[in-house]
Amino acid sequence: MNTDTIAAIATGIGTGGISIIRISGDMAIPATEKIYRSKKSNKTLSEQKSHTIHYGFIVDGDEVIDEVMVTVMRAPLTYTREDVVEINCHGGIVVTKKILDIVLRQGVRLAEPGEFTKRAFLNGRIDLSQAEAVCDIINAKNEIALKNSLNQLRGREFEIIKDLRDGILRDVAFIEAALDDPENYSLDGFSERLLANIDNYCDKIEKLISGSKNGKLIKEGINTVILGKPNVGKSSLLNILVKEDRAIVTDIAGTTRDTLEETVQLNEITLNIIDTAGIRKTEDIVEKIGVEKAIRIAKEADLIIYIIDSTVPLDENDEEILSLIKDKKAIILLNKSDLPSIVSIDEIKEKSNHPVITTSFVNYTGLEEMESLIKEMFFKGEIKLNEDILITNDRHIEAFKKALEALNMVKESIKNQMPEDFYSIDLMTAYEVLGKIIGENVEEDLINLIFSEFCMGK
Ligand code: GDP
Repeated sequence: MNTDTIAAIATGIGTGGISIIRISGDMAIPATEKIYRSKKSNKTLSEQKSHTIHYGFIVDGDEVIDEVMVTVMRAPLTYTREDVVEINCHGGIVVTKKILDIVLRQGVRLAEPGEFTKRAFLNGRIDLSQAEAVCDIINAKNEIALKNSLNQLRGREFEIIKDLRDGILRDVAFIEAALDDPENYSLDGFSERLLANIDNYCDKIEKLISGSKNGKLIKEGINTVILGKPNVGKSSLLNILVKEDRAIVTDIAGTTRDTLEETVQLNEITLNIIDTAGIRKTEDIVEKIGVEKAIRIAKEADLIIYIIDSTVPLDENDEEILSLIKDKKAIILLNKSDLPSIVSIDEIKEKSNHPVITTSFVNYTGLEEMESLIKEMFFKGEIKLNEDILITNDRHIEAFKKALEALNMVKESIKNQMPEDFYSIDLMTAYEVLGKIIGENVEEDLINLIFSEFCMGK
């Protein structure tokens, strides 16, 4: 077990009202005591009660560095389950770094990214799925992703895994007992019971795996490509969504030369929008790179928004694009509806099965409809989460898949009337891989890798 005392700046680096330097370990209180002068109290920090906050100064020898509030929290009721001190100082970069430097001169070392949370895990306060949730909460791109990570932090995934593992372990225990003591435990009819149990475990796991696809779309965003010929309004749409003029909007055809990427929020959903150069036949080399890239990106996109200018007749380029996106999830926007139109919805419907919405980016119409359509397409309407959990972590998804494989092997063994001890082996595999999700018997390298992705000070 790591016994060093560690410290890091826990707040974001930059200028703000307050910065927090967090210190964890046996030396947290004595180290802070050496550099802290109380404003009023005669007590040292060691003499203060746990979970109290104190007003004073951080000093470097005789020099006063900053006026601070110091929180003293003794183990075990702390984030890391170790003694923790948090110094609230003024939020300037210079002053915060200076205080951290002074702390680091008191026999305390700089924490690695995620090391506080790693200690919370190693000291048994949270399981690995909860630790990973902490990282996800910090990185949540939208409210649903945040709520999902909070459910995970509250142990929802842990509970599901615990239930599954308890059941599996009971089955294994019964098999072992029956094999050891056949007089008292009969295996008659057990195969049917076991099969029913396994079907139940598999159902639960399959649901988690199938929900994970949506979970990932919610967490990471829907990769969206805006396609359309020049001048149809691609940049205008992107601007509306981004709500700032980052893309260049212009009347000259073909000025959006390369791709732009923006992450935008449509209430609960996140779109990672890639604006492209538009697809058309062109001799312009730069445009051409854009077009080819656009086609490549469109193939990989989760969603295509294809914009058509309703004031310009459809041509072979539209036909080409419509056939290109035939098998993709796509929405067609018939834009510039504020102007007299030449193209009708019916005309598009003859050429494509994708839903069509009339929009005007000048009048901001059709955008809400687009949002509900996206929700309908990806999440079958409203996104509801409540107490459910969507698995979004690749490591967890892989483990669930392995557990499912092992359970299917048991089913196979039952079908083939293999001896019961065969069942136990695969049941135990499922038990162990599920355990890895919550951090049981996980190799140190993997733990280090998981926490290295955390931000500093967490
Ligand atoms: P892009 O080449 O597809 O990116 O098209 P832009 O977004 O640059 O738009 C081309 C021109 O059409 C600009 O002058 C926009 O202001 C205009 N435009 C975009 N959407 C609409 C719309 O809904 N109605 C009208 N009247 N003009 C629009």
